[in-house]
This record gives sequence, structure tokens and C-alpha cells, in this order.
Amino acid sequence: MCGIIAIISSEPFDVLEGLGRLKRMEYRGYDSYGFFSDGKIYKKVGKIDLDGLNGKTRIFVGHTRWATHGGVNEINAHPHLDCTGNIVIVHNGTIDNYRELREDLKNRGHVFRSETDSEIFAHWFEEGLKDKRSIRDIVLDIFEKFKGTYAVIVYIKDLNKLVAIKNGSPLVVGLGKDKIFIASDVYAFLDETQEVIILDDYEFLEIG
Ligand code: GLU
Repeated sequence: MCGIIAIISSEPFDVLEGLGRLKRMEYRGYDSYGFFSDGKIYKKVGKIDLDGLNGKTRIFVGHTRWATHGGVNEINAHPHLDCTGNIVIVHNGTIDNYRELREDLKNRGHVFRSETDSEIFAHWFEEGLKDKRSIRDIVLDIFEKFKGTYAVIVYIKDLNKLVAIKNGSPLVVGLGKDKIFIASDVYAFLDETQEVIILDDYEFLEIG
């Protein structure tokens, strides 16, 4: 188990707000954490530390990890990136057939940096977008080929697009006034909105 969250907002908000919301999901798993905000990735081993962080962002993508594949260290902490750094992903769950999917992507020239099962999502999107496939087709292929459980949030920087995919791990969407939240648990955003969409297995969401 672990917690994932994305916040996309029309107005800049404090990075600390994103981190505070991520911290609310720490009970789901907390050996390490990481997030993407304002164009940068931060990763740390241990509990979420709210000290010393400032700055604003319009997009925040965060993860608290409970390691299943690969040791507990900053390289294996999420978010993970594709080869170019354009695609940012966080994943909750496990992919049972990740070895064969990873080998296939490696044979197509992809370079993996972590030991996690999760990183395949980033390279899978990179490969699909390179082939000019639609997000829908890329995701439907994931539903067909990835065995295991997953709630995944993907942020594609150059398209400013968020994609959320659910199969087996929880994922809920909150519609705020200026913000959309996607998270493992409504607890992450209920103070700001009670307008909630609960995603079902084999459902996905594309924003942007
Ligand atoms: N299987 C992934 C990993 O080991 C995600 C674990 C989780 O759900 O925190 O990084």
C-alpha cells in the first residue's frame, strides 16, 4: 500500500499544501516519499518532512512509498521518469509481469534507472507517444498487458496533461473550485471539496 496524489490548479498554490495533503496518506505506507512540483522532482527516504519547503506550483504529483520491488532508497522512490524526463509517474500497487514488459522496453532502447516495477509506466507512455498513439489507446493497452494492481498518475510535461488509471488500487477524484485532486483517499482533499468521483477498475481519466 502507499498513497498517491495529484493536484492541478488554475491558480498557483503552496508546494507545502501539496506535501501536507500527501502526508495525510502517510498511514498507507511511508518508507520513502517523493513529489514533482514546479518542474522539479524531490525524493527522500523516511517520513515526510514539512520543514524548509516553500514556493508555489500549479501542479503537484506526490507519492509515499511502501517498497515492494527494489530497495528503499531515493532512486527507487517515486516519481519515476521516462528516458527524456518529459513523463512523470507515481504508482500504487504491483505489476507481476514487469520483468517481461521491462525487457521488451529495454530491447526498444529504453534505459531504466530504478529497480521498481513502476518505472515501466513512464517508458510505456514514452513509447506510445513516440508512436503517435492516443492516450486512450496507450491506456487500453495497459489494461490488456499489465498484470497486477495499479493506481497510476501520469503527468506529461510538454502536453501539460494528467492521466489517472485505476485497476485494483483505490483512486478518487475531487472537484474543487480552482483545483482538481486525484488521490488514493478522499481524506487528502475532503476539507476543500465534497464533490467526489470514485474511479472503478479499468477506468481512466485524462485532464488537459
Ligand atoms: N511496487 C512499487 C514500488 O515498489 C509501488 C509500491 C507502493 O505501492 O508503494 O515502488
